[in-house]
Amino acid sequence: SAKASGRNRACFYASSLGEAMLARRILEENLRGAVEAKDFTLVYQPIVNGATGCRIGFEALLRWVDRTGRQVPPSDFIPIAEELGLMADLGRWVLRAACQEAVSWADGGTIAVNLSATQLSDPNLPDIVGDALTETGLSPERLELEITETAVLGNRDVARGLLQQLREIGVGIALDDFGTGFSSLSLVRELPLTRIKIDRSFVADIDGTMRSVAVIKAVVALAQGYDLALTGEGIETEEQRDTLLAHGCSDLQGYLLGRPAPAAHWRTETGHWSCR
Ligand code: C2E
Ligand code: MG
Ligand code: MG
Ligand code: MG
Repeated sequence: SAKASGRNRACFYASSLGEAMLARRILEENLRGAVEAKDFTLVYQPIVNGATGCRIGFEALLRWVDRTGRQVPPSDFIPIAEELGLMADLGRWVLRAACQEAVSWADGGTIAVNLSATQLSDPNLPDIVGDALTETGLSPERLELEITETAVLGNRDVARGLLQQLREIGVGIALDDFGTGFSSLSLVRELPLTRIKIDRSFVADIDGTMRSVAVIKAVVALAQGYDLALTGEGIETEEQRDTLLAHGCSDLQGYLLGRPAPAAHWRTETGHWSCR
């Protein structure tokens, strides 16, 4: 009966599972509204060449402050955006906004943009990227797309085809979070990469022992063998930086070198690290 189902519903929402589901529904609605209004910002984290100490560019990272004023981490809202089918739209916005920002940089550095699983299975991806470049006037060599093993998983052949087309346009491809997946090595062999980013868990492990350095040495050898640039991610200490440099890691990224910050912050920062 209606009365019984009403009571069941009341009990359901009173339970913590019900509360969690309600919170999730609110988050979903907020996220839909935000994507509609493009109510997001990008922050930029510097990437520095180890040998020269010069900044080579920035990685764009997505930020969302929901209607309650809470900053929701991308690792929380991106999977939901994917599920709700919002990521194609949001991903296109990120690409466009990041390219637009990079065009204004006097030092002409690269801009790295993260791609999601949805984008890596979308046959329109090469056109979407091409449009972002044409509309903003950014030269393709200045754009680097970051992919993860999780994002290419399940549709490796499709992803490989799309990445091949992107390479032909002149865009760089970085394999992010390298070493954490099950098939990292076969991806290096299969995909048309230009860069590997060692996952920050391996960088965090660096403690002067032979074991921790062995992983770094192996990835450096791999990158050199395939003629790929290599970024160490998540560098927080001088020991981590020095170890990576000593073993031939070409580029550095992490809080030690600079935290992600709004574009305005980097504009006022007077030429620091920028060697051009
Ligand atoms: P990611 O692409 O591997 O980005 C690096 C993450 O590590 C960022 O977290 C960054 O803030 C953080 N990080 C940088 N240096 C350090 C450090 O020294 N120590 C520590 N502990 N963390 C550091 P964030 O911004 O929370 O992003 C998390 C993930 O969300 C990204 O990982 C990326 O996979 C995804 N993401 C962010 N923006 C976008 C986007 O525009 N599109 C897509 N598809 N994914 C995005
Ligand atoms: Mg990344
Ligand atoms: Mg990463
Ligand atoms: Mg990561």
